[in-house]
Amino acid sequence: MNAVSREDRTLRVAALRAAYREELAEGTDAFFAPRARACPWCGSNRLTGRLHTADLLQHKPGAFELDRCDACGHVFQNPRLNERGLAFYYRDFYDGLGEEKLGGVFDGRAAAYRSRAESVRPHLGGAAEWLDVGTGHGHFCETARAVLPAVAFDGIDRTDGADLAERAGRVRRGHRGSLPELAARQPGSYDVVSMFHCLEHCTSPQRELEAAHAVLRPGGLLVIDVPDPESRFARLLGRWWLPWLQPQHLHLVPAGNLRRRLAECGFTVLAEEHAEAHDPVDLLAAVWSALNAVAPREDLPWLDAPPGAGRRALRTAVMIAGVPLLLAAAVLDRVVVRPFAGPLRLANAYRLVARRDADGGPPTPG
Ligand SMILES: [Zn+2]
Repeated sequence: MNAVSREDRTLRVAALRAAYREELAEGTDAFFAPRARACPWCGSNRLTGRLHTADLLQHKPGAFELDRCDACGHVFQNPRLNERGLAFYYRDFYDGLGEEKLGGVFDGRAAAYRSRAESVRPHLGGAAEWLDVGTGHGHFCETARAVLPAVAFDGIDRTDGADLAERAGRVRRGHRGSLPELAARQPGSYDVVSMFHCLEHCTSPQRELEAAHAVLRPGGLLVIDVPDPESRFARLLGRWWLPWLQPQHLHLVPAGNLRRRLAECGFTVLAEEHAEAHDPVDLLAAVWSALNAVAPREDLPWLDAPPGAGRRALRTAVMIAGVPLLLAAAVLDRVVVRPFAGPLRLANAYRLVARRDADGGPPTPG
């Protein structure tokens, strides 16, 4: 970061600080819905605490708990953030203060985007209209066009990213809003719907699956990537496992649960992939989060005051000392873990490709 942009960031942080202070004046309890007594996936009341953690990425105040359902294995945030809480914790993550940082991250992900398009290609006929849900700034669509030139890509996002993606020419059409709203307005209007790492952010995955069914033409394809709570890394790395991503990830669905639910919703699952959906960052992200947890914070608008020179120097020292660890973790992720992520069940995500049944209703049992 050069001197000008650091100064610019300091000014922007200072400008945001008063609003954050006001919002945090009464503590974080107001950000949560009442604790659920039953599993939101199957209704069982056999719940066990799975993880107690904090916001390890943005370091906003608050404590977060994940419960696991002993009946079906579903993992979910409990108590869950309410609308106010979601707005608070998403602010300055994908947009505002966080946008520049994340823009760089998304730009560098072309290989992962191509893999997503390749997974759908064998099941596609020819020309098709594709809706990418949670499209962000449309970077997946831009990359996928090169893999699937006969496909027209639209995107939908709850943020203004959808408009930005359309203006930048990365999508044909950028819808701003939710999938259920769009599905109600334009039922049966797409041949493919993709949900790459967005279902886990939704308050009701069931509603999103029903909306995906509604917005697809009969015979259309649904492709879903989500974090895999059954990954061995989830157990090995504990709270330092990136895909827990608290407080944003509200539901972590085991693959078997999602396969069964898709069948109940009127889909036939065509493919289940694990290694293909793996993002080789688990060890690097774990080391990075741990270093950040021990180093004093950089200036953030939700801190009471900017850190002084001593704390800034200490942070720099911790980060420099951590460089060899970060490098080692990155090499292990890519060279040692990635080739075995599938067979060793270390893949941090899985992908399902499903076809909407032609009759539009659930399949007959048996
Ligand atoms: Zn359950």
